[in-house]
Amino acid sequence: MKTITELRQEYIAGTTSPTKVITEALNLIKEKNTDINAFLEVYEDALVEAEEATKQYKEKGADTPELLGVPVALKNNILLKGKKATGASKILENYTAVYDATIVKKLKEAGAIFVGATNMDEFAMGGSTENSAFGPTKNPVDTTRVPGGSSGGSAAAVAMNAVPVAIGTDTGGSIRQPASYCGIVGFKPTYGAVSRYGLMAMGSSLDQAGPLTKTVADAEIVHNIMAGKDSMDATTINPDTYRDVGVKDKYVFGVPKKFLKDGVDEDVLTAFNEHVESLKKDGHEIIEIDLPLFEQGLAAYYVVMPAEVSSNLARYDGIRYGLSVEGDNLLDVYENTRAEGFGPEVKRRILLGTHVLSSGYYDAYYGKAQLARVKMREELDEVFKNVDIILTPTAPTPAFKLGEKNDPLSMYRQDIFTVPVNLTGVPAISLPMGMVEREEKKLPIGVQYIGPHGGDARLFSIAKKVYDERL
Ligand code: GLN
Repeated sequence: MKTITELRQEYIAGTTSPTKVITEALNLIKEKNTDINAFLEVYEDALVEAEEATKQYKEKGADTPELLGVPVALKNNILLKGKKATGASKILENYTAVYDATIVKKLKEAGAIFVGATNMDEFAMGGSTENSAFGPTKNPVDTTRVPGGSSGGSAAAVAMNAVPVAIGTDTGGSIRQPASYCGIVGFKPTYGAVSRYGLMAMGSSLDQAGPLTKTVADAEIVHNIMAGKDSMDATTINPDTYRDVGVKDKYVFGVPKKFLKDGVDEDVLTAFNEHVESLKKDGHEIIEIDLPLFEQGLAAYYVVMPAEVSSNLARYDGIRYGLSVEGDNLLDVYENTRAEGFGPEVKRRILLGTHVLSSGYYDAYYGKAQLARVKMREELDEVFKNVDIILTPTAPTPAFKLGEKNDPLSMYRQDIFTVPVNLTGVPAISLPMGMVEREEKKLPIGVQYIGPHGGDARLFSIAKKVYDERL
């Protein structure tokens, strides 16, 4: 599949057409999806839209919206009116969205054509897409391995060349980690840069939607279309007051050396050090930094996130949405529906969240975690006085085998470098940084660039130089 930039040029030049590209995308999905399971649903009606887009290009050429005729895949926790929105949960198996998420509305206005809904961990809880109620997604690079998660279907959709861009959501790493495992680009914006209206809430103070793409330039195009103040989401930032930290030619990069000692595979560390060296060669400055609180992010995350999950998922009660299982009284209906509708990981987090919010434990856990979060942000602000960008590997390892991580804690540890970013609300991008070998197969790994609050444009600008320009 070509990039958005290439497609757009060719559509305008008339060397290919949306009809042709969308037809090919749908055919490819039909051919490969039985094995990969990246898509939960394919939208055949995309072809009708493609024909209309083809007509538009013939009539108006370059005078058409930026994404006209570009095939896009959408994680299935994002509402697209008239289509099923399952969150990969049995509880919403037959639920149809009644309105468009703000980001969907914006993408539609820009001319994007949605070709299908992508698989994910149930309600975005997980790091491998094995927690889907509709079966796991496989990594297109090596189908014995996971694509990462929770936006594993979106990452696989791009990696299998079905679409140039898939939209994911990231609460603790769910765009960046699968991007890293599948060898593509994944971007998590500054919290509040993008509207959450019409996204199924997981951890409301952490969730952001973002693009998974083959190039940084494509990610930037799509992010800029989705971003902006939304009257339907009070946490979105007004672009007029948005503190864009600006771009430079040469940067000071901070590397938290001590943090990297924490369970990172040796060859991943080697590749990371080589990446750092290449930045030095480009004339950037590298300094060692210390992030003692940031390092504790995982502990705070697994208190804050389940607390918000337990509250957000209370709405799935058998009355308002989706599945409803009968019972002798109302309480039975709630219990039976939730017992049958939710998978084990979702239940685990609801229990954990309910516990940390209960009276007597609130101060000990939830209050402390929130305090830790404030302190982490202070620590980060301090570090960003001296550095422009922080570097870490995206994940400590390449993609693991399907079924390999069967205890939740070892799965959680994969997010050690990504969750502190959500807790502090700053932006980060994952870029491919080479391959490592496992069982005679080359597997992609990723490097994470973390920017200060409002540093989205800065990350795109440097990432285009270090990644796109070297492609
Ligand atoms: N893997 C992390 C978790 O399980 C992150 C999930 C996400 O970002 N949605 O919570």
